[in-house]
Amino acid sequence: MARIRLDHIRHAYTPELARAGNYALREIDHAFEDGGAYALLGPSGCGKTTLLNIISGLLTPSEGHIRFGERDVTMLAPEQRNIAQVFQFPVIYDTMTVAQNLAFPLRNRRVPEPEIAARVREMLGRIGLEAKADRKARGLTADEKQKISLGRGLVRSDVNAILFDEPLTVIDPHMKWVLRSLLKELHREFRMTMVYVTHDQTEALTFAEKVVVMYDGEVVQIGTPEELFERPRHTFVGYFIGSPGMNVMDCRVEDGAALIGGERIPTRNARAPSGAGKLELGIRPEFVRLVTRGTPGSLPVTIDKVEDIGSERIVRARLGGEKLAALVPEGQGLPADAAVTFDAAAVNLYADSWLIEERA
Ligand code: ATP
Repeated sequence: MARIRLDHIRHAYTPELARAGNYALREIDHAFEDGGAYALLGPSGCGKTTLLNIISGLLTPSEGHIRFGERDVTMLAPEQRNIAQVFQFPVIYDTMTVAQNLAFPLRNRRVPEPEIAARVREMLGRIGLEAKADRKARGLTADEKQKISLGRGLVRSDVNAILFDEPLTVIDPHMKWVLRSLLKELHREFRMTMVYVTHDQTEALTFAEKVVVMYDGEVVQIGTPEELFERPRHTFVGYFIGSPGMNVMDCRVEDGAALIGGERIPTRNARAPSGAGKLELGIRPEFVRLVTRGTPGSLPVTIDKVEDIGSERIVRARLGGEKLAALVPEGQGLPADAAVTFDAAAVNLYADSWLIEERA
């Protein structure tokens, strides 16, 4: 395993696109630490697969360098990079048995036969396919085939990293949980460097130690799931992560106070740098408390609608003309004359979409 360093990577798919300034990756400068479990998370088209293919060598970046440890691998072909990859759809040999499929990458690397037998047996147990070891892969279900793909990626212990590109898309929902915990367990045990591409926040947050959030060809934040939840560096991160996402409301800052309409909003930080553009406040629906109007320190709101989502309700309201969602436990009564309170510590101030603290 090795630390993977991405040094000022930019990528345009054609020279014409580059001339037009149309880059799939704009500027990626980041390291995946040795033995870390990372998720690359972002909406469709933000550049996740492009970045993964640059790491594996399927693509050469237009600019920048990739290093595995001290070694510059930018110009090396995929087979010279010693990387295992698991794709969205199973890549296995239909005419081979399950066991032969798992043994294949080890035989290729001339691992001694007794060791291959032991490693294949162990992996068969991990992915729950011992009973089908001698069955041809052709007749298996899509779930089982994808388990073989995962097993083939994980069976090698000598790789620099394992890259996963939306590997659970074809898996049924229950099995997704099973395989995700298997990946987590194997990671904890063997500490392989794993990079896992997904556009599904639940998948990213449950799998990864660190989540790399991408937006429009750039990395906007790298953090633990808690950091992304509590302190989104960019309003996009706040909105994309969470269900419903963070409330983002236009505001003004005057005399060290943040204001929405005429209401003074308690915030952690109400100092906007001079020349800052559009100012916004971000607060998660989980931190908005619905109270009766007149409660000390409360701000009056108008409730537009209430959506039942099982154990909780989403209350859609307006505060000084700005939309505000609150998450309320099922069973909690809704006041007729509603107001909200929140802790200043839970309210973030953004200028031009970036968290002000982070820019200072
Ligand atoms: P998805 O989740 O939909 O796979 P992604 O985040 O992986 O999206 P990429 O597939 O890396 O995004 O695409 C990034 C950008 O590059 C997109 O604008 C896409 O249209 C463009 N792109 C991808 N492949 C090519 C290609 N072969 N030629 C030209 N443009 C491409």
